[in-house]
Amino acid sequence: MPSLTAPRPRVKPAPKPGVCRWVIRPRAEAGRPGRVGSLWINGGLYVLAELLDDAQAPVGWELRKTDAAGDTLAAYHLDTTQGAGPNYWACDCPDATYRDRACKHCRGLAAALNHLAADSN
Ligand SMILES: [Zn+2]
Repeated sequence: MPSLTAPRPRVKPAPKPGVCRWVIRPRAEAGRPGRVGSLWINGGLYVLAELLDDAQAPVGWELRKTDAAGDTLAAYHLDTTQGAGPNYWACDCPDATYRDRACKHCRGLAAALNHLAADSN
């Protein structure tokens, strides 16, 4: 006689611990609104550009993943207007979009920005 077992509950995998490091800390660049910088996240190099609204208030970041030659492999956009911290931020990468969780971009950038804030105190 066949037996049916209850389906196992789906469990969201916990985010893996990651490593991030500033390559260039965010700074103003002549002729461009917002700050720019670059960041390693889990071995990937990202060029960052701060996104501003019409009133020049920060609303997020563009992260362009680049290869060693500087060519863009992918570009993601983080919206930081919904709250403080990576769990409130929205990223348009596949991980955040389809798994509905704080992706490595949100967690990595938040950790790196927190590190800057702690450094400047
Ligand atoms: Zn992301």
